[in-house]
Amino acid sequence: MELTAVTDLPEVRPGDDLAELVADRAALEPGDVLTVASTVVSKAEGRTADLEEFPVSGRATELAERIGSVAGEQKDPRFAQAVLEESTELLIECPFMLTETRFGHICVNAGIDRSNVPDHDLLLLPRKPTESAERIRAGLAERGHEDVAVIVTDTCGRPFRHGQRGVALGWAGLPASRDWRGEPDRDGRELGVTVQSVVDELASAANLVTGEGADGTPAVVVRDWAFGDLEGSDELFRDVEDDLVRQALRGWDFEP
Ligand code: GDP
Ligand code: MN
Ligand code: MN
Repeated sequence: MELTAVTDLPEVRPGDDLAELVADRAALEPGDVLTVASTVVSKAEGRTADLEEFPVSGRATELAERIGSVAGEQKDPRFAQAVLEESTELLIECPFMLTETRFGHICVNAGIDRSNVPDHDLLLLPRKPTESAERIRAGLAERGHEDVAVIVTDTCGRPFRHGQRGVALGWAGLPASRDWRGEPDRDGRELGVTVQSVVDELASAANLVTGEGADGTPAVVVRDWAFGDLEGSDELFRDVEDDLVRQALRGWDFEP
C-alpha cells in the first residue's frame, strides 16, 4: 500500500471544487482511495462561523459555567451554543461535551474546530460528510477519474487511550467495513466477531501523511491496497439500542 499527499493545494475557499483542485494536482488511477480532511471540505462548503452568530440559550450558559468551573477558566457560552446546535444529543456534558452530531458521529464539541480557520472563529463539520464524499467522487469521475473512492476524515480522540487519530466521517465508493466472520484463522477456527472498519483504518493511515498543523496536505491518495472480495457493510455508527457504553453514560454524571 502506498500513501501520497496531494501537494500544492491552495487555501480552500467557500465554493471551491475539491474534485477539481485534486484532479489538477494528482495522477489518480482507478481503484485509488482519496482521503480528504473534513477541514477543507467544510471550508469549501462554507461551514465557517463566528461566535456572535450563536445567541446564547440558558442551557448553553449553564453548560459553559459548569465546564468553566471545573476547568478553572471561563468558557465562552456562545461556543457551547454552537456545539448544542450542531448536536442531536449530549452524551457527556461536563467536564467536556461529548456529542452526537446531526449525521450520527460521536465526538467532542460536535467536531467544531478553532484551528486552521482564517478570518472566522469556528469551522463546523460538513453537514453530511457522506454526501460530500459522493460529490467529490462524482466530480472526479466527471474529470475522467472513474472508480476513485473518497473518504472524508477528521482527527478524533478515543476513549481509554491518549492521543488522537484519523477517523472516517463519510465515504463513497467503498464499503465501510470488511466482514471476516466465517473466515478461518491459521488453525482453521472460524472467526466469529471480526468486522474490520476499513474506512477508519484508511483514514488513520492517511492522517499520518496529512499531519495536524500547518502542513497544508489535507488530501492523500491511497494506492495498491487490498480490500478483498469479502462481504462488506456500510454500518459504522452504532444504534443506541446496540451501544452499551452509550446506554451506561445516560445514567452517569460527572462529580469532581
Ligand atoms: P481535520 O483533521 O479535518 O480537523 O483537519 P486539520 O486541521 O488537522 O488539517 C488537516 C491538514 O489540512 C493539515 O495538513 C492542514 O495544514 C491542512 N489544511 C487545512 N486547511 C487547509 C487549506 O485550506 N488548504 C491546504 N492546502 N491545507 C489545509
Ligand atoms: Mn477537525
Ligand atoms: Mn486533523
